[in-house]
Amino acid sequence: MTPDTTAATGRDIADLRARVRKFTSERLTAGDFVPQCDAWVRGFDLSFSRALSAEGLIGVTWPAEFGGSGMPSTARLVITEELLRVGAPVAAHWIGERQIGPSILRFGSRELQDEFLPAITTSEVSFCLGMSETEAGSDLAAVRTTAERDGSGWRINGAKVWTTNAHHATHAYVLARTSRSEIKHEGLTEFIVDMRSPGVTVRPILDLAGEHHFNEVLLDEVAVPSRWVIGEVGEGWSQVTGQLSFERGGSERFLSTYPLLAETLKHAHLSGDRATIEQVGALAARVSALRNLAWNIAVSVDNGVAPVADAAKLKYLGPAFERDVLNTARYAVDVGGLSDEGTLERLISEAQVAIPGMSIRGGVSEVLLTLVARSETRL
Ligand SMILES: Cc1cc2nc3c(=O)[nH]c(=O)nc-3n(C[C@H](O)[C@H](O)[C@H](O)COP(=O)(O)OP(=O)(O)OC[C@H]3O[C@@H](n4cnc5c(N)ncnc54)[C@H](O)[C@@H]3O)c2cc1C
Repeated sequence: MTPDTTAATGRDIADLRARVRKFTSERLTAGDFVPQCDAWVRGFDLSFSRALSAEGLIGVTWPAEFGGSGMPSTARLVITEELLRVGAPVAAHWIGERQIGPSILRFGSRELQDEFLPAITTSEVSFCLGMSETEAGSDLAAVRTTAERDGSGWRINGAKVWTTNAHHATHAYVLARTSRSEIKHEGLTEFIVDMRSPGVTVRPILDLAGEHHFNEVLLDEVAVPSRWVIGEVGEGWSQVTGQLSFERGGSERFLSTYPLLAETLKHAHLSGDRATIEQVGALAARVSALRNLAWNIAVSVDNGVAPVADAAKLKYLGPAFERDVLNTARYAVDVGGLSDEGTLERLISEAQVAIPGMSIRGGVSEVLLTLVARSETRL
């Protein structure tokens, strides 16, 4: 379903940006949230997502019949930029809105669309992503979780790992094997699983700072109705590869540490540290190039083109940029000393914990570089 891209002019986009900025600044002033790094992962706050829903700011690219407003992907990009810029707690709706909803819109039955799309826009359902397994990360087609037909539905058995926010989610997207084949990319199917179903066990995995974002999700004879298959049985691989462009090509791949970048500049001004100000200038130049790339990706999506190579470029360049944001912030503290309120130090420690995973989650850099090399050498 192609959105009505003519509906958003430059003026509409500017008005939308101003609207989101007003929304976030009012909530910041009210103390509803504290800006964080990596807020789209660590900031799980249902009341914030529901406030955004009430403003009609979730699922804006979807048709009105499914709770959206038929805006182009560039409009969604502007909304996400504004939310990430201030480190707003958006994790509760992020996965559902970014990739599961678009996948349901593209491949799901009408029944599935009616059941889930409006519920994502109102933040009634919250998705986690059950793709990776212990032996299937970069090599995702190696998943061993199985789904077998059982009466009118399916039974799923297996174990997913690194499932971010599974302990909060109401539903999981699960990629499972539905038939054996010589070719491992065949015989995969995409399912939706209710996290409250009997047989679902969520076990925490603590990160290097002892925080709980990851989980292991065990699926033991979990019953799933047939209507919760996304798209065609056995077509999971071709469907999921389209989904990866949504996962990789957004501004969260380079704006997760934006609150740290802004605070570093503030600190450098206060301490009169010219060298840091210049380094922030160099980072700001890179941010504008990355924003242009994200914009082009959104335009491609609106034009019905899967921006696989551009999304891989963004996903490679973004984490490298964010690492430099952290290094610049550390340099600012070395030169200018600790900040009075401790905000800079807190943001540094949040970024420090997140950065090692940035070049791994959503696709490791080595794999992305292979994709980029293939696409660019075809020119
Ligand atoms: C912060 C974070 C959050 C995550 N959240 C989720 C989630 O919510 N849901 C989910 O399903 N998964 C999630 N993951 C898992 C993530 O998708 C996988 O970690 C990732 O795909 C890599 O898989 P792997 O860990 O099995 O590493 P591997 O695939 O084993 O890769 C390990 C290393 O081997 C090398 N390598 C592997 N393949 C190649 C290749 N083809 N070419 C060159 N080098 C290669 C690379 O150096 C790579 O870094 C998350 C991961 C992180 C870090």
